[in-house]
Amino acid sequence: MKSASTTLRRVDELCDHGLVPREKLNELAGVAARYAVAITPAMAELIDRNDPHDPIARQFVPDGHELENGPHERRDPIGDDAFRPVEGIVHRYPDRVLLKIVNACAVYCRFCFRRETVGPGRGGLSPAALTAAFDYIRGHPQIWEVILSGGDPLVLSARRLKEVVAQLAAVAHVKVIRLHTRVPVVAPEKISPALVRVLRAKNKATFVVLHVNHPRELTAKARAACARMVDAGIPLLAQSVLLRGVNDDAETLGALMRALIECRIKPYYLHHADLAPGTAHLRTTIAEGQALMRALRGRYSGLCQPTYILDIPDGHGKSPIGPNYLSEDGTTVEDFHGRRHAYPPR
Ligand code: SF4
Repeated sequence: MKSASTTLRRVDELCDHGLVPREKLNELAGVAARYAVAITPAMAELIDRNDPHDPIARQFVPDGHELENGPHERRDPIGDDAFRPVEGIVHRYPDRVLLKIVNACAVYCRFCFRRETVGPGRGGLSPAALTAAFDYIRGHPQIWEVILSGGDPLVLSARRLKEVVAQLAAVAHVKVIRLHTRVPVVAPEKISPALVRVLRAKNKATFVVLHVNHPRELTAKARAACARMVDAGIPLLAQSVLLRGVNDDAETLGALMRALIECRIKPYYLHHADLAPGTAHLRTTIAEGQALMRALRGRYSGLCQPTYILDIPDGHGKSPIGPNYLSEDGTTVEDFHGRRHAYPPR
């Protein structure tokens, strides 16, 4: 079996590297024709070839189930399209916008909520579209925060990111620049001191939100990449997706949250998996997610508690989905052992 020195993008390459059996080549070629595939050397190395249920493989190696579309699944699961005033901008909430500068990622997650729009060769914003997007941001003084997303903004070169950050830094009403990325985990070598330097805008707060789903993803190299950003004064938060067979047990989830805190990364969101096409095999129920959140609350530090969040389909935005500890009439509250206690009305 070969070890990967470059990102694996074809099913036959996955075969050569022992990630899929040869008899599944045809079936998985059909999946790869539909949804992009990319597994970086760091992630290929992390996959245990002897474990048929390896949680890292489950996130990145294509699966025949992806060709099965569930009845409620949809092309645009969180309804971005309805909130797109100009190309590349999603303006759903009053005080913040997404700026989707690139449609490529370092890896392609099998559960991706934007799987219909991301992939190699899908390109990013043209110079004219980028100018129009910046004009939109400049023309809307209520935009306090710009979230660089995609795709993954950290696949761009340091030079390109520097230009984007400089343009945002010049907008007086934009106070916060946030980047959503998986790169520090899946391609930690990309987080060079030069790249870290360009992320910080003068007189603006820069936040990085890391997408990470399993404690094994936080390798020594990934931890060092995150530390380079934290040490440079960039606060790190984490968002994780609750995934069946990856992190849907309290021990794994708790270990992930603790590892994040040990890396000075605050768990922010635990996303209920979106209704993206061909992802039912990776989704849990909301009741299962709530039970896991209860288990986290009972066993782990308050620092380790993310908010369990659902992006309501059709663009209605994010809502926390519990669990709720206060009774509906507000007269009793549940403690972390599951026992109820009366609480006075005022
Ligand atoms: S990194 Fe994010 S945008 Fe890219 S494939 Fe994974 S979930 Fe989708």
